[in-house]
Amino acid sequence: MKTSIIAIATLLFFSNLIPDSKDHSNPIEGIFYLDEDPVIISNSGGVISKIERIANKKSANKIYIAPGLIDLQINGYLGVDFSGPDLTVEGIRKATKALWKAGVTTYYPTVITSEFSRMKENFAVLAKAMEDPEIGKSIPGFHLEGPYISPVQGYRGAHLEKYIKNPDWKEFQELQKAANHGIKLITLAPELEGAIPFIRSCVESGVVVSLGHHNGNAEQIKLAIDAGAKMATHLGNGCANEINRHHNPLWPQLSDDRIKPSIIADGFHLTKEEVRSFYKVKGASKMILVSDALDLAGLPPGEYTRGERTLILTPNVVKLPKENVLAGAASPISLCVGVVMDFTQCSLGEAIQMASSNPAEMMSLNNLGKIEQGKRADFVLFSLENNRLKIEKSYVAGELVYSAD
Ligand SMILES: [Zn+2]
Repeated sequence: MKTSIIAIATLLFFSNLIPDSKDHSNPIEGIFYLDEDPVIISNSGGVISKIERIANKKSANKIYIAPGLIDLQINGYLGVDFSGPDLTVEGIRKATKALWKAGVTTYYPTVITSEFSRMKENFAVLAKAMEDPEIGKSIPGFHLEGPYISPVQGYRGAHLEKYIKNPDWKEFQELQKAANHGIKLITLAPELEGAIPFIRSCVESGVVVSLGHHNGNAEQIKLAIDAGAKMATHLGNGCANEINRHHNPLWPQLSDDRIKPSIIADGFHLTKEEVRSFYKVKGASKMILVSDALDLAGLPPGEYTRGERTLILTPNVVKLPKENVLAGAASPISLCVGVVMDFTQCSLGEAIQMASSNPAEMMSLNNLGKIEQGKRADFVLFSLENNRLKIEKSYVAGELVYSAD
C-alpha cells in the first residue's frame, strides 16, 4: 500500500517535469506595433500572460509584432474555392496554412451566391474544418455573401443572377443547419422584399448583417440599420459604375455612424481618393480591411481557366484578358495594410486596427484583435519596407504556425 502511494507520488512528480509538447510558451520578442517599443511577450496555454517593455534596447533587425490579421471576406486561397464544386477539409487546410504564411491567423471563409445544394454541401464541409484540431482555431465562422442581393447588373457584381433571390428565413435556417450554425456574417440587399424582418431575425440569432451588392435608397438603408445591420460590405464595390449623384447607396452608408464599412484596399478596387474619403469620414475605428480574394490568390501569376473563362492573375489582382477588366481581388489583407497606409498616411497601428482589432470587435471575438494580457496569443511578426509587410512568423494560440526561415 505504502509503496504504491510512493510510486504514484513519484509518477506525479516526474510527470510534472516532462515538458508538454503542446506548451509553446517561449517568449516572443518584437517591436510593438502601436508605439514602436521593443517588447517581450510571454504566453501560457495559448493565452498572453505577460507583456514586458525592454528598456534601452535597440533591436538590430526591426521585426514588428502585431495581433494576427483577421479577414472577414475571403472566397478562397491557393486554388481552393470555398464556393467551388470540390471543396474538402484538406483543401481548406491548404488554404489556411497559406493564409498563415500571409499573416492571416483568423478568417471567415466566404460562400457566395450559388446553387442551394452547393452552398449547403460547402457549409457542411466548412463546419467540419471548423472542428479540425489543426486549423479550426483560425476559423470562427463563415460569411454568406448572397444569394439575397440585388439582381440588377452592376450591383450584383460577379454573382450569378439565376441564383439570386429574396430573403428566405426557412432556407437560410437550412443553410445554418448544414453549417452547424457557423454562418456568423451575411451580406444582403436591404431593398429586397422581406429584407427588414429577415435582418431582425438574423440579428436576434446572433448573425452579423452587412449591407452589400445593393441599390438601397436612404429610407431602406435606414430601416435596415434600425433593424440591426451594422456593416457595409466592400463599400464602393458591388455598385453600378454610373449612379445618381444625390441618390445612391454610398451617401446613406457613409453618413450613418452605425455603419462600419469593409473595403478592398488592394490598390486596384478603390481609388486612393475613395479610400482617403472613406477613412476621413469613418475614422480608423470604423473601417475594416477585407481581401475579398478569389481562390487564385496565393498562386503564381499567370493564365488560369475557371469554368469557361480564362483569367489572368497578376501579382495583385485577377483580370479578364478579353475585356481587360478586374475579375476579382488576389491580395491578402497583409498587403492591404500597406496600401491603406500609403493612401491615407495612417499609422501602422491604425492600419492593423482596421485589419485585426475592428474585425474582431465586429464579430465579438473578444479574445482576439489586440495584444493584451488574457487575449489569445495570435501574432504576426513582420518587417516593413516602403509600407510593404514581409511576414516573418505567424502564431495561433501561442503556436508557431509559419516561419519564413
Ligand atoms: Zn462582393
